[in-house]
Parts: sequence; C-alpha cells; structure tokens
Amino acid sequence: MSIFDIAVIGAGVVGTAIARDLSRQDLKVVLLEANPDFGDESSKGNSALMTEGHDTPVGTLERQLVVRGYQRYVAEGPGLGLPMRKTGALMLAWTEAQRVIVEHHVENANAEGFPNVHLMDGDEVSRRWPQFRPGVLCAQWMPDELIADPFSTPYAYLLDAVTNGVEYRSHWRVSKAERRSGGWRLGNDRGDEIEARLVVNAGGLRADHVEALAGYRDFEMRPRRGQYILLDKPAQAIHDVIAYPTPTPTSRGILIAPTIFGNVLVGPTAEEVEDRDDRSVTDSGLAALQQAIDDMVPSLRGMPVNTIYAGMRPATNHSEYQIIPRFDEDWLTVAGIRSTGFSGALGIAEYVMSLIFPQVFDPKPKAQLQETRVPDLSEQSLRPWADPGKINADPAYAEMLCHCERITMGEVRDALASPLPPQSIKGLKRRTRAMFGRCQGFYCGARVQAMFDAAKGKPHA
Ligand SMILES: Cc1cc2nc3c(=O)[nH]c(=O)nc-3n(C[C@H](O)[C@H](O)[C@H](O)COP(=O)(O)OP(=O)(O)OC[C@H]3O[C@@H](n4cnc5c(N)ncnc54)[C@H](O)[C@@H]3O)c2cc1C
Repeated sequence: MSIFDIAVIGAGVVGTAIARDLSRQDLKVVLLEANPDFGDESSKGNSALMTEGHDTPVGTLERQLVVRGYQRYVAEGPGLGLPMRKTGALMLAWTEAQRVIVEHHVENANAEGFPNVHLMDGDEVSRRWPQFRPGVLCAQWMPDELIADPFSTPYAYLLDAVTNGVEYRSHWRVSKAERRSGGWRLGNDRGDEIEARLVVNAGGLRADHVEALAGYRDFEMRPRRGQYILLDKPAQAIHDVIAYPTPTPTSRGILIAPTIFGNVLVGPTAEEVEDRDDRSVTDSGLAALQQAIDDMVPSLRGMPVNTIYAGMRPATNHSEYQIIPRFDEDWLTVAGIRSTGFSGALGIAEYVMSLIFPQVFDPKPKAQLQETRVPDLSEQSLRPWADPGKINADPAYAEMLCHCERITMGEVRDALASPLPPQSIKGLKRRTRAMFGRCQGFYCGARVQAMFDAAKGKPHA
C-alpha cells in the first residue's frame, strides 16, 4: 500500500495548480484523477478568459483569489510556455439605463483598486471597433483582460508538478474514503488503495460525491451549463476584443471574444441543469447565442461555424467558493469553484498552501526545482510548420497531419511520447489541436487515431 503525506483528488485546473504548488515542498504527494485524461470535466469547456477579478463580488474570497490568480498567471505563465494575449475587454451600453450601470461598474472598479479600468465614450468605441451594432453610448474598457489557452494550462501545471515529484494516477476514481488514525485510506472500484495523512478534495463537478464518501454534506451541486458557438478563424478579422453586454442582476450575459487559437467564441449561456453530464446544445441555447451576435456584432451573422458545444460550471447552492479546512479530520475541501476557476487556480493554490503550512505540515521547500514548458499552440507563436530551424532539424515538422489547424506529424509524435502522454483521442486533441479545426477530424482523424493506437501498442482497425 502506498502511503502519502497528501492526496489531492481531481486533476482539473484547480487540482493541478494545487499539486504544482505542493511539488515545491519536500512531501510525498499523489494526484488522483478518475478520468483517463486530466482536465476533462469543467476545465475543458470554459471561455479561457484570464480575468483581473473586478467582476467578482467585492469582499469575497473569490475576488481575493482571482485577483491573485491573475497576477500569478501573468508572472508564471510564460515560464511554463503558456501563451496569453492582452486583448482587453469591453462592457458595452446601448441604452441610457445600461449607461448608468456601466458608469457604476467603472467607479466601483477604480475604487476597488483597478486603476486601468475606465469609461470609454461611444464615439471612441465605434472608431476603434466599428464592428459593434451602431449606437454604442459608452463602454467600460478593461485593458488588462487576457485570453489564454484553456487546455495547456492544466497540462502545464500537471507537467510541472509531476516533473518535480508529484505522483499522478489517472483512471483512479476515488470510490471509498475510510478514516484511519491520522489520515485516510482511499480506494477505487478496482480494489486499489492508498493512504494519506491529508486529503484535498478538488473534485470539481463531482466534489459533492467525494465529500459524501467522507461523510460531509455542506453543499449541493447546482451545475450550470454554458453553451457556445465557436466561429471559424476568418471571424477574428472582424472581431478581436472581448465584448460583454451590460450585465443584468441575474446574468453577466453572453460574451463574444477571440480565442488564443484564432477563432471567435460566442457564449456561454447560463442554465441550471439537473444532470451534471448533460452537455447538450439546445435550440433555445443556439437561438440565444445567435441573438447575442445580432445584438452586439451583427456582421458576424453567417460566419462559418467551427463547432457548437457546452461546458458545465461546478456551481453549488452557495455563491462563494467552498474552501473548507477540516484539519481536525485531515480533510480540506476545495470546491464550488464555479465560473472563475481558470483565472483563480493559482490564487486558490497559494491560499491552500497558506492553510496547510504550517498548520498541518511544516514547510520544507525543495532546494532544487526542474523547469518545464508546454508547447505554445496559440496562433501568435511560431508554429513548427513555419519554423525553418525546426524543420531542418527534423522533417516530421514539415509533414502536415491536420491541415485545418496546421499540426504536423512531429507535434503529434512528440505529444504521444511526452512524460504525460494523452490517454485518449480527446486528450491528444487538447494537447496538439489536431482535429480541432474546421473539418473536426474528418480528413485527419483516421491518421491521428492510427498514431494514437500505435503509441498505445494497440492494433489499428
Ligand atoms: C461555460 C464555462 C465558462 C467558463 N469561463 C471561465 C472563464 O472565462 N474564466 C475563468 O476563470 N473560469 C471560467 N470558467 C470556470 C472554470 O472553468 C472552472 O471554475 C474550473 O474549470 C473548475 O475547475 P476544477 O478543477 O474545480 O473542476 P474540474 O475541472 O471539474 O476538475 C475536477 C476533476 O476532479 C475529478 N474527479 C471528480 N471526482 C473524482 C473522484 N471521485 N476521484 C478522482 N477524481 C475525481 C474529475 O474527473 C475532474 O477531472 C468557466 C466554466 C464554464 C463551464
């Protein structure tokens, strides 16, 4: 039986960020993930906006941790190879009532320590971004808002954690938690067991199930679906800034934003659903997304659609994050990271460290850390197919596999041979972007599958 100091449950963006920070300490840490691949639940279907935090509720832990998460991402992301683009964001007003709300938001943001946020008059908005529906009265301009890579972010955190000593076990759904003296014994349905002195539940959408295994029932999941339309790359020539409508008391509204991969995203809707796995796209959802296009950037109407999909926010019946230290019982809950976890993850991880050290463990920082980087898959990077140096050194980077996204055989080969090889085709897609393009794998899917099967030692059908 393996015995660990800390077991983290859940390799979403939050659990991987926590594992990364824990890897800085001289402790035996394991990260347990139910799915074949990490980042395959809430963390795969978000808008990938790295927000400064001024739109989170003031005075909350969420605000504090999102602000800090953004700061850390900007400082640490480049070292991990993570791309980011400061496109800035606008919250737009077309009516007098909306103008009042926007002005109020600007005043609050300035008073709460975001000096760069300011009011922009409608003429300037229309001059700089003529794509908006005519008649913009004013906007809140947030110049520091970023777009980033949603899939490489948990990958970068996990790769760094594993390289620096964290043990990672996928296909390991915790289905049993048994209290021992001074810790827990965790088990899965295959009969594997581990023991840990402290358990951190970062189970995202299923954190309540994990809590129930240990007998805790402080919150209920209220999963909130968000549907999207992803427009094809030509749309970014029309629209290249994060744009929000004026929020209402119940909703932040549907945004239209560029992605780091060159597309334009329209979404998300916000619907409470019973089934946390119901990621269906509905007629009413699509109608709301089309309406948002008409309301904000009508010239995007009719642009080719790359795909439609939905993500699921791990919201609970509480509006605040559910970070609950239960150190008398060797358990720490890190749940309910509803709609800001992508931005907040590094802030949450740092906060978790401040709870654990020195209360549960004395800090023993490792003397030496190894640096890691993930491949930059963004459109702003010099991609292998366009890099003569890379191609000269290795012709596999000239052999095009996915023509839509321009992904080469060399990149897919590298991902399959990485220290954290993808465990599924979906994982390989997120790692390389092969099959993510306009044809959605129609042309390259069979070859990608063959490479995946060969790497796994499976016969290819
Ligand atoms: C539509 C939408 C838009 C969003 N937009 C943004 C945005 O623009 N910016 C932003 O900052 N945030 C955004 N978010 C929020 C962000 O995506 C989430 O806050 C974040 O992904 C939550 O991460 P997590 O690690 O807590 O959960 P998850 O990603 O769900 O990870 C939890 C992990 O735990 C594993 N697990 C569960 N149970 C077990 C078990 N029993 N044993 C082992 N493993 C288990 C799961 O398999 C999963 O991998 C958005 C979310 C959605 C859905």
